[in-house]
Amino acid sequence: MQILDVIIPFYNEEECINPLLEELFNLRNNLKDKLDVNFIFVNDGSTDNGAKIIQEQCAQNDFIKLINLSRNFGHEIATTAGIDSSKGDYTVIIDADMQDPPNLIPEMYNILCENNCHVVHAIRKHREKETFFKKISADIFYRFLKIFSTNPVTLDSGDFKLFTANVRDAVKSIREHNRYVRGIIDWSGFKSTYYFYNRAGRKAGKTKYSPQKLFVLAFNAFISFADKLVYLILILALLFFVLSIIFIFTHKYTAGTIIFIQAVQTAAIGLIGIYIKNISLDTKNRPLYFIDTKYNLD
Ligand code: UDP
Ligand code: MG
Repeated sequence: MQILDVIIPFYNEEECINPLLEELFNLRNNLKDKLDVNFIFVNDGSTDNGAKIIQEQCAQNDFIKLINLSRNFGHEIATTAGIDSSKGDYTVIIDADMQDPPNLIPEMYNILCENNCHVVHAIRKHREKETFFKKISADIFYRFLKIFSTNPVTLDSGDFKLFTANVRDAVKSIREHNRYVRGIIDWSGFKSTYYFYNRAGRKAGKTKYSPQKLFVLAFNAFISFADKLVYLILILALLFFVLSIIFIFTHKYTAGTIIFIQAVQTAAIGLIGIYIKNISLDTKNRPLYFIDTKYNLD
């Protein structure tokens, strides 16, 4: 039977663990004729008793796996640790707080099979119990990232995605430290489709993403995936240049000269930016491409 690995990164989610386990057992039961379901919990340096509850479950069920990271490395790294351990035919990433309800996974699996796709992105139609600030900043963030990225960007989707082993192996092969897992999945480019759902509030506890952490995540995502951003500097240089010409033609020589020098400096910064962008791409060592299918070749 084919295997589905459910990856659950968690940090101090003690109150959520028992209700989550119940949901996960139901999921395993519902899928038992189609898939063998494993749960890979990644404890991201929790200081509460959540990991102990899971460890007890591990002793009774070998389909429950637990990775204890040495400290809190953050959600993206914890998710990566889970993906690295996944060996199944399919992988799905969920939050531990049941904001990504496990009972939606069978439908996501059906959609994946019916559409012959590699990724199903769960898209948030509505977000309940979230602040106006979080919703509006997320909306703006995804749209700006899409504008400034050469690669596809899936709007309004978090890490709640179900994907095939091809995609999982692609993510495994990308080892950059500044990680933005959903960006990496989009970047891998495998055929994807969508599943729309209403995102409920968390089951218990508080969000582990402070506004500062969210800002760092968004900033990292921009640096890693908004590759068109650097060309804005060159456009700015061009604007300065045009402005300086206008000033010179209207006999405002001093202002024109100053703005012309500014145009040259901005263009130089833009060019250096492009060189650094290219160097950073090479040091990241991302694979050049991924193969979907091959015929008559090993
Ligand atoms: N998480 C983690 N390490 C962290 C922060 C969060 O593993 O440093 C986990 C967290 O326990 C949850 C998931 O990542 O399972 C998403 O975090 P959260 O639900 O707090 O984010 P939100 O849904 O509010 O954006
Ligand atoms: Mg959450």
